[in-house]
Amino acid sequence: MRFINKFGKTTVASTILAASVLGTTQLSLASSPGEGNQGQQGQDGDYMAIGNTENPKNVIFMVGDGMGPSYNSAYRYYADDPNTKELDQTAFDKYLKGTNRTNPNDPKENVTDSAAGGTAFATGHKTYNGAISVDNNKKPLKSVLEQAKENGKSTGLVTTAEVTDATPAVYAAHVDDRDKKDEIAQQFYNDKINGQHKVDVILGGGSKYFGKENGNLKEKFQQDGYDYVTNKTDLANSQSNQVLGLFSEKNMPLQLDAPKKNPLLVDMENSALSKLEKNDKGFFLMVEGASIDKAGHPNDITGVMSEMGGFEKAFQNAIDYTDTHKDTLVVATADHSTGGLSIAKGKDYVWNPEAIHKMKHTGSYMTEQIADGKDPEKVISKGYGIKFPSEQLDKVKEAAKELKDIKSKAKSEDDPKIAEATTKLQDAIQKPINDESHTGWTTYGHTGEDVNTYAHGPGEDKFLGNKDNTDSAKNIFDFFTNDVSINQN
Ligand SMILES: [Zn+2]
Repeated sequence: MRFINKFGKTTVASTILAASVLGTTQLSLASSPGEGNQGQQGQDGDYMAIGNTENPKNVIFMVGDGMGPSYNSAYRYYADDPNTKELDQTAFDKYLKGTNRTNPNDPKENVTDSAAGGTAFATGHKTYNGAISVDNNKKPLKSVLEQAKENGKSTGLVTTAEVTDATPAVYAAHVDDRDKKDEIAQQFYNDKINGQHKVDVILGGGSKYFGKENGNLKEKFQQDGYDYVTNKTDLANSQSNQVLGLFSEKNMPLQLDAPKKNPLLVDMENSALSKLEKNDKGFFLMVEGASIDKAGHPNDITGVMSEMGGFEKAFQNAIDYTDTHKDTLVVATADHSTGGLSIAKGKDYVWNPEAIHKMKHTGSYMTEQIADGKDPEKVISKGYGIKFPSEQLDKVKEAAKELKDIKSKAKSEDDPKIAEATTKLQDAIQKPINDESHTGWTTYGHTGEDVNTYAHGPGEDKFLGNKDNTDSAKNIFDFFTNDVSINQN
C-alpha cells in the first residue's frame, strides 16, 4: 500500500520538479493518475500543479526484455567495426539517461520477473512476481496505455514474444497470474475504454490464444474492423488502422533463425507507427525486444546477440522517427537482466564476439531441431560456424538420447524432467560457443542489477539519473494527464 499512497504525491512532486527544471510557469490542472474506471485505490483527488508544457504527444516505450547493462556492453563489443581503432558506440549509447531499479514488491522474491517489472513501468506500482497489472491485493492498476486510450490516443503493442506474454499483457490486461494467457487474450478483446478496444495495433506471436480454442478471438477482432495478418507481406499491405498480426503460434523465432516471411521487430514497429500516427491526438506504442530474455534464460549468447541486433535496429528506427516527429518521446529500458551474462570468463581478460558472428544459427534453434529428432551431427554442422569438438558432439548425442527417453516415458509435456533434459542438451550444444567467445553465465533465471534507461525527445530529462522502474509510468502519466494535444480539444 505504501506505493499506492505515495503515487499521487510523487506524481505532483515530479511535475513540479519537471516544471522548475524547465523553468515553466504556466498553471494547469494535473489530475491524479490513480483515477479512472479501474477501481483503483489510493488517489487523493485532483491536484493543482505547475504544468509541464513540453509534454510529448506520442510515446514509444521500448523494452529490451532481460537487457541488463552487461547486454548493452557486450553488444557494443559485438557490433563494433574491427577496422576502426576505437570501440564504436551503439545506437543506444548516445541516449543513455540513467538507470532503473527493478526490485519487485514480492513477499518471497526480491528479484523481479517480467510481470512485476512490466506492471511497475506500465502502471507506476510495485507488485508481486507473476502479477499482470494488479496490486498485491489483486486489484487492477491502470496502465499508461489505458490512460492514452482514455485521452483518445491510438495505442499499440509490438513484441517478438506471444502478445499475451507478461510485458505486452501488463498494458492491456489485469490478471493475478501471468500464465492465464487465454484470459489475457480475452481481456484484449472484451475490455473496452469509451466503447473502444484498448489496443489498436497488436503485433507479435501467440496465435494459439486467438483461435477456436479460445473463442475465435481473431475472427471477432476482424468483425470489429481489424485486419488479421500472419506474415510480413500481408502486414505491409494492411489498410485498416487497427490490426492484429500474429506471426507464430507461440513466441516468434529468433531473428537469426527466422523464415524470410516473418516481419522483424523493426518491420512491426514501422507498420504500427504508420497506423497510429494517423490519430491527431497522438499515440502510445510499446515495442518489446522480448527474445533477448528468451535467449538469455538458456544462456544462448548467439541468440542474445541476434535479438540485441533486432532491438537496436528498432531503437534506431524510433530515434529516426523523432527527427521528423518532434512531438514524440522514445524511451528504451529493460525490466531486469537475465542469466548473469558476463563479458569474459576464466583467467583471460578476453571476450571474443568474432566467434559469435561466425555462428549460422542460435543454440535455441539447434536445440529445438535436435529435440524434434533431427540428426545432431547435421544440425550442428549447419548451425555452427566455429569448430565443434568431436568429444562434445558425443555429449550432444548422449543428451539427445536421454531427452528422447524421458519424453517417451513422460505422462505430460509439462513434466519438469523434460525441461531439465532439454537444458542439458542445450548446454552441451552451446558449450563450444560460450567457451570460444569467453561468455560467462551464472543462472538460468533473472538477476537484480539496475538496468539502463535511454530516452530521446520531449520529456527525456525526466529519465535522468538513478530512478525507480515505477517512475517511467509516473512520467508518462504526467505527460498524458497534462497533454497539450488533448487540452486543445
Ligand atoms: Zn525472463
